Amino acid sequence: MLTSGQSEGDASVASSSTPSADDAQPPSLATSSSLSTGKLQECIATEQWQDWRWHMRNRIRTVAQLREWMPTLKVSPGLLSAAEKFPLAITPHYASLIRQMDSSDPIYLMCVPQMQELCDPKFLCDDPLEEDEDMPVPGLVHRYGDRALLISTTTCSTYCRHCTRKRVAGMHESSISPRRLQQVVTYLLAHPEIHDVIVSGGDPLTMATENLERVLSSLRSVPSIDIIRIGTRVPVVMPQRVTDELVGMLRKFHPLYINTHFNHPNELTADSVAACAKLVDAGIPMGNQSVLLRGVNDHPKIIETLCRNLIRSRVRPYYLFQCDLVRGVEHFRTPLSRGIEIMEYLRGRLSGLAIPTFVVDAPHGGGKIPLLPNYIVSSSPTHTVLRNFEGMIVSYPEPGMSSETPQALPENVAPGVWELSSGQATSILPAASNRHNRRRRKAMPLFGQPAETSE
Ligand code: SF4
Repeated sequence: MLTSGQSEGDASVASSSTPSADDAQPPSLATSSSLSTGKLQECIATEQWQDWRWHMRNRIRTVAQLREWMPTLKVSPGLLSAAEKFPLAITPHYASLIRQMDSSDPIYLMCVPQMQELCDPKFLCDDPLEEDEDMPVPGLVHRYGDRALLISTTTCSTYCRHCTRKRVAGMHESSISPRRLQQVVTYLLAHPEIHDVIVSGGDPLTMATENLERVLSSLRSVPSIDIIRIGTRVPVVMPQRVTDELVGMLRKFHPLYINTHFNHPNELTADSVAACAKLVDAGIPMGNQSVLLRGVNDHPKIIETLCRNLIRSRVRPYYLFQCDLVRGVEHFRTPLSRGIEIMEYLRGRLSGLAIPTFVVDAPHGGGKIPLLPNYIVSSSPTHTVLRNFEGMIVSYPEPGMSSETPQALPENVAPGVWELSSGQATSILPAASNRHNRRRRKAMPLFGQPAETSE
């Protein structure tokens, strides 16, 4: 994890620090106000702050503009080199979320270039998911049988330092041409097995409303397309874009889903929550795809807070992605065990509705592979032995089992896993558990007099 002690010019990639769930304070859950950042402070209170076109026009695109907007920023040679290698854009809205002008701040890490991006081990590449190999028509990725992904634009309002599509996003800003769109429609008509198209990019919501409408109408003209999904980070980095005009256009294309990309609780501002509410009120179900990023959100409590805040904002946590093997993101990668540890922490603490699926998007275009802690302890033809989040171990009888009670164990014999898998015992309880302590108390009756308690 990058710590506040590491300067931007530190050439070494920070070593992984993986404290267990409860032994460390989660970084960056502070709620202090934004830094005083010169030009930013002058603009926040003005009317133009609510105008998304103003945010697009005033994106921070160069290191000179970074200096102008963030006078307290220390510009190191490493920052300069990284900004030359990968595109830079930050909306004033997103820049205003930075609370600390250094790598201890999660928003800073996700948008300000860092020297660590130049670290380039040989297992990284520009297109680790081999999307270009699965592109039968330029701009359309067809990997899974029933769905396809359309790169509708290469523009984003903010270029995420951890972007998996760095080879496309921001290298040359443009949107799909009418001719290319027609090629895509022709392919979709010839492949009626595709029922679901994800409009992605770049960020489709940076397109002019009429241009995005042209894309959505073209997709809707294909009878076999059931659902359209839009992948966008606009609610996070430029929520002002979610205007009545945009939402009015989108609602013509139901069933339409939106997946957005919040990574840290600090991104869920009042404006972002309002933008999500506007989309959900228009009948658009919203999901969230986070990326697990070292120094940003690789702590169980940060992910827990993020998921709680998302679900409260009517955005369903959908995926938690392992960082892809893409050039420029090595310093963000966490060990796979970190994701599994986070999933272990969430289960039992958080409603299933708020728990995302942890996935690795496999190299070589292998697709999404879900990873979970191991909940199967053992199995036999007659019983599977499972464990829950508390450490309770329980025997699950397979179908077709005789209803005869297995021979009881002698009183002085404690059951082990084998006794559970052979049907001689049904569970092993942890010595202490809040849930079982509650059970030991006599329950209050639903009606009438309180029952006697045994404690
Ligand atoms: S918004 Fe999406 S496509 Fe654009 S830079 Fe961020 S992650 Fe990449």
